Amino acid sequence: MKTLTIRQPWASLIVAGIKDIENRTWKTSYRGPLLIHAASFKIKNWDNIPITENQKDILRSYGAGVIDYDITSAIIGKVDLVDCVINHDSIWAEKCMPEHYKIYNWALANPILFYEPIPVKGKLSLWDYPNILAEPEEENGKLFCHCQIPVKEENQVSRFLGEEFRCNYCGGIWYK
Ligand SMILES: [Zn+2]
Repeated sequence: MKTLTIRQPWASLIVAGIKDIENRTWKTSYRGPLLIHAASFKIKNWDNIPITENQKDILRSYGAGVIDYDITSAIIGKVDLVDCVINHDSIWAEKCMPEHYKIYNWALANPILFYEPIPVKGKLSLWDYPNILAEPEEENGKLFCHCQIPVKEENQVSRFLGEEFRCNYCGGIWYK
């Protein structure tokens, strides 16, 4: 599955469903599921994090300790990349004048925080994490999980009432 490495605190804010935009200096035509990988950068001083007063107010409203910003060097969740635009109206979108240096706002939807992070080294640009398939494999019209990831089964699999067991990471049916 396509993966994007993002520094903290942004990675955790994205999978928590608070930050709905990722700002990049380059655009992408990719749309679809995207794993969120937290880079190795650890926050030592919040004063060095470029965050506006409005954004701080939002974070305060969630209270301290709700979001874990200390997970690094791991895939921590998943979103859908739904658009890539300039000057999105989200509070998290960096704006720019069209004639100047462009900042692209990657619009993100359907965030999921994984129960258990997958430790793996980050990469630049959009990269592929092959152990989670973007499309679960089809067998007899059903989509089955073929993830090969080092997480506990109780963290990987869940079930809504009356439905089949499913993998939280790829969305496929659990076959074991
Ligand atoms: Zn899976």
